[in-house]
Amino acid sequence: MNKYEIIALSQIKNNRLENELRFERLMDELRKDKAFAEAESERDTIRFKIAKLRFQNADLGSLYDDLALAEKRLFSRLSELGYTEGALTPAYNCMECKDTGYANGNLCRCVRSLAYTLIKGNCSTLVTELDDFGAIDYSFIPEADRARYRATANILAKFAEKFPDIKSSILLISGEQGTGKTYLMSVLANALMKKCAGVLFYNAVQINEIFLKYHLAPIEEKDDIFSPLVEADFLVIDDLGAENFRNNVTETYLYELLVLRDSRLTGVTTNLSSPQILSRYGSRISSRLFSKNDSFGINLEGQDLRFIKR
Ligand SMILES: [Zn+2]
Repeated sequence: MNKYEIIALSQIKNNRLENELRFERLMDELRKDKAFAEAESERDTIRFKIAKLRFQNADLGSLYDDLALAEKRLFSRLSELGYTEGALTPAYNCMECKDTGYANGNLCRCVRSLAYTLIKGNCSTLVTELDDFGAIDYSFIPEADRARYRATANILAKFAEKFPDIKSSILLISGEQGTGKTYLMSVLANALMKKCAGVLFYNAVQINEIFLKYHLAPIEEKDDIFSPLVEADFLVIDDLGAENFRNNVTETYLYELLVLRDSRLTGVTTNLSSPQILSRYGSRISSRLFSKNDSFGINLEGQDLRFIKR
């Protein structure tokens, strides 16, 4: 299994956990309804009787008819509560492996397919599919800012060219909202994916949610949640500062992540200035993000590009 398949497998398993949890919650909710709970319990009792009698090779009598009736009652109550029959089984994305990642003892096709998607990157937050810095259209940039923007693109193009042989572990692009940071980081992500790098592109809100999930997860599930972030060849944290800062979660795990990703490139975009980063995230994170040896920082100040028509 290659590392993309490992990442894909852990995402698929996470999905399964989430879906099963959602399913359990829904069932708990439905069972608060007396009629539903009774119908379900009646159905289960009949099922149990059938199983037992079949095991004894005994006569089942009219039990299958009883079961059909009990199911009908259950489904009709379910429908009155506003749900379809499908609600009574957990939802799986892949019916072949029920999101376990394995079918007939082999890695399921869905894992390979997701691994490929990961490498190609169907990241929802990528704002462009452009993967070639040479093809950037600079006409949408105000003339006064064009030289600086072009210079930044050229630096990132070098990163893409040299990757994975990069000395810096942090690539930090800062600047006001709408200066095109996410756009340039997206082009870089696409360019690296073209080189078959495993790229994860998250905005800070998403990363923070993953941190919280990691924080709350039982110990045996923690690794599956955190390791894709650590193992991605290129991880982007877009718009650092937009997340809802949680002291014992955001700071703790962001720092842990940066430490563990020491030898891998992490791209960060932010509207925050360095003093703002220091006061929000503390000195441990700040000194990593602005490390003289390991961090490459670009400030992209300028007019708000989002308001300029392409
Ligand atoms: Zn599958």
